[in-house]
Amino acid sequence: MSGLSFIPHLIAGQERASYDDSTLDNVNPWTRSTQGTLASGGAREAGDAIAAARSSFESGAWSRLGERQRAALMYALADRMELHAEELAQAETADIGRPLAASRSFDVPRAVGMIRFFADHHSLSTSDVYPMSADFHAFTAYRPAGVVVAISPWNHPLMLGVWKIAAALAWGNSVVWKPAEDSPTSAYLVARIALEAGWPAGVLNVVQGKGAVIGDALIHSSEIDRITFTGSTAVGRLVGAAAGQNLVPVTLELGGKGATVVLDDADLDLAAATAARAVFNNTGQVCLAGTRVLVQRSVHDEFLRRFAEQAAQLRVGDPLDPSTDLGPLASEKQFDRVSRYFALAQSEGGTVLGGGPGEGWTFKPTIVADVSRKGRVWREEVFGPMATVSTFDDFDQGIALANDTDYGLTCTLFSESAARIHTAASRLRAGTVWANCYQVRDLRAPMGGPGYSGIGREGGNFSREFFTEPQAVFIKTSLD
Ligand code: NAD
Repeated sequence: MSGLSFIPHLIAGQERASYDDSTLDNVNPWTRSTQGTLASGGAREAGDAIAAARSSFESGAWSRLGERQRAALMYALADRMELHAEELAQAETADIGRPLAASRSFDVPRAVGMIRFFADHHSLSTSDVYPMSADFHAFTAYRPAGVVVAISPWNHPLMLGVWKIAAALAWGNSVVWKPAEDSPTSAYLVARIALEAGWPAGVLNVVQGKGAVIGDALIHSSEIDRITFTGSTAVGRLVGAAAGQNLVPVTLELGGKGATVVLDDADLDLAAATAARAVFNNTGQVCLAGTRVLVQRSVHDEFLRRFAEQAAQLRVGDPLDPSTDLGPLASEKQFDRVSRYFALAQSEGGTVLGGGPGEGWTFKPTIVADVSRKGRVWREEVFGPMATVSTFDDFDQGIALANDTDYGLTCTLFSESAARIHTAASRLRAGTVWANCYQVRDLRAPMGGPGYSGIGREGGNFSREFFTEPQAVFIKTSLD
């Protein structure tokens, strides 16, 4: 599958084991067997990677490259990733059980596209000039921040990591990237491909190991300039606290508990098909998922019939089989977690309309009706293929239910009325609102959300603001 028996750190252009040679097993969630090992680093490896990034940054080999040269190297990376596309897709599938067809058609092309996007975004960027008196020239410059620590999760390892590093690198920073321990391969491959593409050593360093060990060492370093984190709300709090101690700017892209709101004038076929995709895609392991399906009472029964039909059509199984829609959950830990929430949904009064655990670590598309709004299943992120379905009577109640969450990442809405969609969007506490569609993205748009979903936004100019130090420059231009 991934073909790698050992995944090393890649620091200062060198592949390295940990000082004490310690490793972790890399388990394939479909076969449930160990497919290789990865280096398990700690404070020393974290320190080395940060030092390598600092030295490359100070050298100017990347940070002071002209925008055309830097963009050319980013394009060279993207082009070479396309040459390695199959290897990257196989790695994602082997590490997290994502259907190979989706890794090939979605994750790898999106990651490649992000690298090209941020290269262009930087080189096409402009900044403000402030007309002062003729005696002064005043403008804003966006200076690279320095050393960026990027910590990414396992649910879309390549895409979510590249989203961070591409923006940071385009703006001239050097990076230390720590992928999740359950999905180490694609980050290592990207760093290796960057070296093949002629990148200077030390610009993109990748370290491997446990979050609580090497991740903890990275976030507590006082030698870094930015932390960009995507992961759980619980770990996000630790990252935010560490960043606060050292006054290091941080973005936290955390969990979600998105709602799918189906109003009584919705196109029910579109709503049912899209709602199924919004909750079951990637075996439900998506922060943007619409897990709380809220349906206006008058269309509830008809919607539910069509939604259940959609769920029943999804095929669960071997991620290498082209007909598979849902691979296994990404790890045993994740399988146990979703199984616990499944049991909890029933003990909290929910009625299971279909689904539940399957063979190995697979989990069937699951629909639970009438969970209690006081219960944990309504409030907490399950991160598995489990939809709860609830009803509401009118527009205001539907919006209130959608907002009844500590999170605020996304809301997906179905209605044929433009006025209802605009009004709903203005009242929803969600970083992203989709109406009559799902997972449409534009890399210029902000990504993130309020509450337990995190702090800050990334994307387009939002990434520029975060990964640079905006500097006001005033130059006296007259001779007297
Ligand atoms: P996680 O928080 O357990 O781990 C995320 C990353 O943090 C991993 O690389 C992990 O090794 C590292 N980490 C763990 N403990 C650490 C510590 N003490 N210090 C530093 N780093 C540490 O999350 P996960 O289980 O990998 O990912 C799933 C979560 O990510 C879900 O909550 C999901 O909603 C969220 N997510 C959010 C977005 C978004 O854009 N908002 C996108 C995808 C996933």
